[in-house]
Amino acid sequence: MTQTTTPNWIEASLAIECAHRIVIVAHVSPDGDAIGSILALGNALKLRGKDIDMAVDGGVPDFADFLPGACWVKTGLDTGDWDVMVALDSSDVKRLGRCGAYAMAHSRTIINVDHHPSNTYYGHYHIVIPAAVSTTEILQRWFVRLGIPLTVEIATPLLTGLLTDTIGFRTDNVRAETLALGQLLIDAGAPYAEVVQRTLNSKSYRAILLWQRVISTARLEEGIISAVVLKADWQSLGYHEETDAGLVGYLISTDEAKIAVVYKETENGSIDVSMRAKLGFDVAAVAVALGGGGHVQAAGANIPGSVEDVVSRVQPMLRAALKR
Ligand code: 5GP
Ligand code: MN
Repeated sequence: MTQTTTPNWIEASLAIECAHRIVIVAHVSPDGDAIGSILALGNALKLRGKDIDMAVDGGVPDFADFLPGACWVKTGLDTGDWDVMVALDSSDVKRLGRCGAYAMAHSRTIINVDHHPSNTYYGHYHIVIPAAVSTTEILQRWFVRLGIPLTVEIATPLLTGLLTDTIGFRTDNVRAETLALGQLLIDAGAPYAEVVQRTLNSKSYRAILLWQRVISTARLEEGIISAVVLKADWQSLGYHEETDAGLVGYLISTDEAKIAVVYKETENGSIDVSMRAKLGFDVAAVAVALGGGGHVQAAGANIPGSVEDVVSRVQPMLRAALKR
């Protein structure tokens, strides 16, 4: 395995050019960047005449079913082998779930494309750029190198990743080039208003009911705002595990808070810990210490145990992060 932080543009491009069968996977419970990345790359490589499989645990989330090619994304893999596997927006192998494990065991070459600083460099070739605001930003750069034209079927999922990971160009990593990329994608035909409407401005009524419950558990202590989502909360509303990462993003807007955290009970009894930090504070280090990953301002981990145990383990770590 190549251990480097310099992107393997040439090696990865050659592997793609030589491949016939390519499988594309991303992290479990895909967000806009994960699903946008799968579809942008899948649509691009189909244009190149490649035989493409796209798969992700959890499948295409409802908000993304308007994206071109969404109907081709599988929810599981149990047959096939590939010349190349491309893993997108996933900092480690565990986060690629069952689809990732199957694809990895049945692919000759693995290319890891990601923007998480906590990436573990698990592929043969890596295009890992932590300064990129989204994995779709990295893909656009790759498409330029590969000479792939920006069709509307490629630009639309690319814009979806760009807009969702920057929460509408609102995160601190947004630069002039980020806006320029948005302009390029809209110029290529990506429907800006529709993407905003389907992603950032979309919430089901049951999500509102869940927020109502969860916000009633919110507590602000020593600059940390925390809330809890119990299994009964999401189950009684008919959710299947995946709920709403927007909640923690809402909580961090609390003026008095430096860090926000949501603890969510999962199906298997573990706790999903979802964290956000204001500028000057770092939750990525806490996430990595807990076996998870993410970015300085947005990170998470999945920890076995009860809510009480996990809260009493994580809160002191967050208090320590406030002092660093
Ligand atoms: P969110 O709180 O929106 O689920 O995730 C915030 C960030 O942390 C995202 O970049 C996401 O990929 C990362 N993240 C969340 N949970 C985990 C986890 O269990 N493992 C790893 N490696 N990263 C995670
Ligand atoms: Mn991302």
